[in-house]
Amino acid sequence: MIELVRGEDCIACDKCIDVCPTDVFDRSAAGIPLIARQSDCQTCFMCEAYCPTDALYVAPDATPLADRTVIPEAHIGRYREQLGWGKGRRPGSLIAIGPELPHGTPPPRLSEVAPRVSESTHVAGTSRPQ
Ligand code: SF4
Ligand code: SF4
Repeated sequence: MIELVRGEDCIACDKCIDVCPTDVFDRSAAGIPLIARQSDCQTCFMCEAYCPTDALYVAPDATPLADRTVIPEAHIGRYREQLGWGKGRRPGSLIAIGPELPHGTPPPRLSEVAPRVSESTHVAGTSRPQ
């Protein structure tokens, strides 16, 4: 679960906000993302993977840590390091090495899934042979 955004390392590139599938973050006036809906986090690590400055930390547990102060410094950027996307790169998303974000229509949010399910059920019902 997302646990930490380190404001001193964040360059306000918004990549974490863009890749999060469950809209956990809000943009703050200062440009640093806020963890606004931590309970919606799916522990997918996408924000940590795409952050170009290792400013985020996602714990592997699906429940919040009891005490955020126990996060070891060595754990910051570890996921990216193990992905092979590099740890400790210089700030600046323009020089980030990670893969490009996919282009085209973004995947549907969870709130958009239910109407599609009922629509497909309706179509299946009406197309049945008589
Ligand atoms: S781990 Fe995934 S779901 Fe959680 S905040 Fe990061 S991108 Fe969003
Ligand atoms: S991806 Fe990293 S540097 Fe960019 S806004 Fe999010 S925390 Fe800040």
